[in-house]
Amino acid sequence: KVKAQTPSYQSVIDAAYEKFKDLKEGKNADYIKELATVDPNIFGIVLVTADGKVYTKGDITSKVSIQSVSKVFTRAKVIEDQGAKAVQDKIGVDATGMRFNSVIAVEVQKGKEINPLVNPGAIASTSLIAGTDSATKWKNIVQIQSDFAGRQLSINQPVYVSEAGDNMHNQALAVLLLSYGRMYFDPREATDIYTKQCALNVDAKDLATMAATLANGGVNPVTKKTVVSPETVAHTLPVMCTAGLYDDSGIWLYNAGIPAKSGVGGGLLAVCPGKFGIAVVSPPLDAAGNSVKAQRVIEYVVEQLKVNPYLVV
Ligand code: GLN
Repeated sequence: KVKAQTPSYQSVIDAAYEKFKDLKEGKNADYIKELATVDPNIFGIVLVTADGKVYTKGDITSKVSIQSVSKVFTRAKVIEDQGAKAVQDKIGVDATGMRFNSVIAVEVQKGKEINPLVNPGAIASTSLIAGTDSATKWKNIVQIQSDFAGRQLSINQPVYVSEAGDNMHNQALAVLLLSYGRMYFDPREATDIYTKQCALNVDAKDLATMAATLANGGVNPVTKKTVVSPETVAHTLPVMCTAGLYDDSGIWLYNAGIPAKSGVGGGLLAVCPGKFGIAVVSPPLDAAGNSVKAQRVIEYVVEQLKVNPYLVV
C-alpha cells in the first residue's frame, strides 16, 4: 500500500509554533522564588535529528534552568559507570505515581524502588556519581550534562542561590533515604550538588541535542562524541516513559507515546529513538509541574509526523 506523505520537520514545528503560541494556560513555578521572575513568553522549539540536522522555531536563545530534565543524564552516567543492575538495586526504577518531591513515596517503600526521575531518586543518583568529594562529583555532573548538550553548560547563579537557601524539603528527602541506607554520600552535600545541577542553564537547542544524543544511541549527533553506550540509553528511555512527567507520566504516554522528561524551569524534551530528539522551552506549568505549551507542541509534532511507535500505518 502507498503510505501517505509525512510533512517535513520544519513545516511541522512551524505549524506547531503558530498553533500554540497564544495558549495562555499555566503558571511559572514559584516555589523556587527565582523561577517566578522568568519571562513566561519564552517559547522555542528545536528538533535535532539522529544524524545531526537542526530545525528551529521561535526563541531558541533564551536560557532557563534545566531542573528535573538533568535527572535523566546524571542517572545515565551512573548506569554507564556502575551498570544498570547497580542502579536498579541501589535506587530503583519504578514509577511512584506521586508528586516529584513526595516524602510518602519514600516512606511507603522504606526507601526502596524509588523513582529515579523524581527528587529522592535523583538526589540518590547524584550521591552515586563518581568522586569522593563534592567538587569532583560536581565536575563529573557538569561534564556529563555538557557532553549530552554538546557545549559547556554553566550555572544560573541566582536560581541556585534561591533554591539552595530554601530546599529543606529536598534535604529531608535525602536524610530520610539515608535512614533507610539508600543515600550514598553526605545527604546535605548530595542535595546541594543536585540543586546546582538543577540550576544549569539551557536553551531549547541544548535540550534537543541532549534528546538527540539519546535518539542516536548515546553518540551526540552534533559533536559526534560518544557520551554513553547504547545499553545505557536502553535503560534510560523506558524510565522516561514511565516517570518522565512526574505523576502525569501515564497521561503523557497515552497522548504522545514517546519517552520524555520535563523540568519546572519550563523545558521538556522527548526522544524518538533512531529518528530525532525534540525540545520545547515555555515556562508556564500545569498542576503536575509540566510545561503546558511544550506538551501540546510535542504531542502535535508526534501526531503530524506519525512517529508514535505504537501507531502502525
Ligand atoms: N530543583 C527542583 C526541585 O528539586 C527540580 C524539580 C523539578 O523540576 N520537578 O524541586
